Amino acid sequence: MTKTFMPQMETLDELRDLQLKGLQKTVKHAYEGSPVYRKRLDETGIGPESIRSLDDLEKLPFTTSKDLQEGYPFPLLSVPFEKVVRIHASSGTTGKRKVLCYTKKDIEDWTHFFARCYEMAELTAEDRVQIAVGYGVWTAGASFQLGCEEFGAMAIPAGPGNMDMQCEFLMDMKTTVMCCTASMGLLLAEEVHHRSINDKVHLKKMIFGSERASDAMRNRIGELLELEHMFDIPGMTELYGPGTGLDCVYHTGIHYWADYYILEILDPETLKPVPEGETGEMVVTTLEKEGVPLIRYRTRDLTRLIPGQCECGSILPRHDRILGRSDDMIIFRAVNIYPGQIDHVLSGIEGIGSEYQVILDRKEDGKDYMTLKVERDQCVAQGRDAELSGQIGKEIKKQVFVSAGVEIVEYGALPRSERKSKRVFDNRD
Ligand code: ZN
Repeated sequence: MTKTFMPQMETLDELRDLQLKGLQKTVKHAYEGSPVYRKRLDETGIGPESIRSLDDLEKLPFTTSKDLQEGYPFPLLSVPFEKVVRIHASSGTTGKRKVLCYTKKDIEDWTHFFARCYEMAELTAEDRVQIAVGYGVWTAGASFQLGCEEFGAMAIPAGPGNMDMQCEFLMDMKTTVMCCTASMGLLLAEEVHHRSINDKVHLKKMIFGSERASDAMRNRIGELLELEHMFDIPGMTELYGPGTGLDCVYHTGIHYWADYYILEILDPETLKPVPEGETGEMVVTTLEKEGVPLIRYRTRDLTRLIPGQCECGSILPRHDRILGRSDDMIIFRAVNIYPGQIDHVLSGIEGIGSEYQVILDRKEDGKDYMTLKVERDQCVAQGRDAELSGQIGKEIKKQVFVSAGVEIVEYGALPRSERKSKRVFDNRD
């Protein structure tokens, strides 16, 4: 039998048993190792012995990014310094940065489940993996590489940028898998096309890290490079870094490593679980992490769990792509809406551009109204406006559960920004 990095269990009951053991271990470890965690747990009257079942998870206090910033430079450290073998940090001004410490076991665990990503993407030892992400304290190229070596494929640690070199490696090393951001993937695809070197390039798969690839971007990359598969690799520094899950070749959501962390999806207002399949904030609790364990860490990222089992047969549960940040949530007629949901609906409709605005007004009748301004695509005739606005309204109603007026505007009519464009205009107070 070939080596596998998948969890060796067959039922969800086995997975839950393992999660309970990991949770008990983590609470005990954090309580004994970190004065901050101990104080907080004592204040809530919860001790390591209080965790008898997975339902006890909800008794535990939350951890937030403030906890990780306030303890600068070594927040929530739960082991003695001599056990720390590496740090990574999120960018930000000094004191706002989150520095995370890793023990040897943390790095080994991370390497193991990163190798699982390559297995999930159905690579083999024959594959040649060009790793074009940053290496250093802010980014974790090292994890892509260690995971690749552990898996047994050939790593080409190219680093980001330098298109000449990337193209040269693609041809000379006969790279089959590329790991990069989606933006870089697009640049590379256009470069390969521009240089007419398609027939010398053997790329089959791309793994996108650190930013969400829009559907338009993916389609363009896939077309230009004739790829078999594109995968999204999630990851945040607080939770090891990249590699905490991957979509399988069926691409029906991201399988996440539930044997290394528990994922709760909570309503960001009430902090209670949302019904399965609905969007909420990702809250994570680690099961094995030693350096900086996380207990109910509020990530502020929004997604939903995907109900049911995947066709691939894996028992590892799935979450959707990240739909945005809970800080961006709009409450409209008692429905929680995230701009990412609207983005998602619009990206599934042909004939419109990628720019849009959401305008919220309160009218004389005291009710709230939503207007969506959406750009017509460049090559689409004005005569289709009524049809397009009707289709958008219908899809918004179906997928976001609200009614919105839709106004189609000329291509290029909405402002563009190199940074994040302002898309929501709330005129209600
Ligand atoms: Zn699957």
